[in-house]
Amino acid sequence: MRILLFGPPGAGKGTQGKILAISERIPHISTGEILRDCVERQTPVGKIAEPFLAQGKYLPDDVMLEVIKERLLDHSAANGFILDGFPRTVGQALSLDKLLKELKQPIDSAVYLKLDKGTIMERLLHRETCHECGLSYGPRRTSKKPGVCDADGGILEKRKDDTHDLILSRNKEYLEKTPPVLDYYMARNKLVEIDGSQAASEIANKISKSLVAMELE
Ligand code: ZN
Repeated sequence: MRILLFGPPGAGKGTQGKILAISERIPHISTGEILRDCVERQTPVGKIAEPFLAQGKYLPDDVMLEVIKERLLDHSAANGFILDGFPRTVGQALSLDKLLKELKQPIDSAVYLKLDKGTIMERLLHRETCHECGLSYGPRRTSKKPGVCDADGGILEKRKDDTHDLILSRNKEYLEKTPPVLDYYMARNKLVEIDGSQAASEIANKISKSLVAMELE
């Protein structure tokens, strides 16, 4: 299965990506996580990415494509993947299609988690993420012990870009650039739209049902 995950920051892509990775036995590839890791380690890509991430802006297409290409060519992605955070523009979607055509691995499904601005703000302002396993906590899921991950005891921390102003600019950037990408996958009968305000388990259920339906087509 090759799945794309769409949705504004805060829609639960990280959570769903992790659930799907287990049920489908394929890696969850979050470009945001890859880039934040590159910045932390100050790799060449990290140095390019840093000022963009600091402003809540997208990276240039050619840089993103290189990052993606390298990750998708890794053997761990040979049986499929869940891609979260890419493509973000129609240009990127076209490049991705071209790359996957070369690899003979077309996209099976593009899942869009829809969520309104008020809910996004509320979720992200209260979001805390485990430093060890990346699990997210927030208004809908609180940890048993404040500041500590239930799964592994890791420290929970706020993401640097989860501030009021950066949430707004990330959401604005999203709303400006993503609708044409969703149209692109809709026109190819790959788009599945799901209400992101539901419980995580409910969303996961609906995604797996849609994947079965896609497979039967
Ligand atoms: Zn954890």
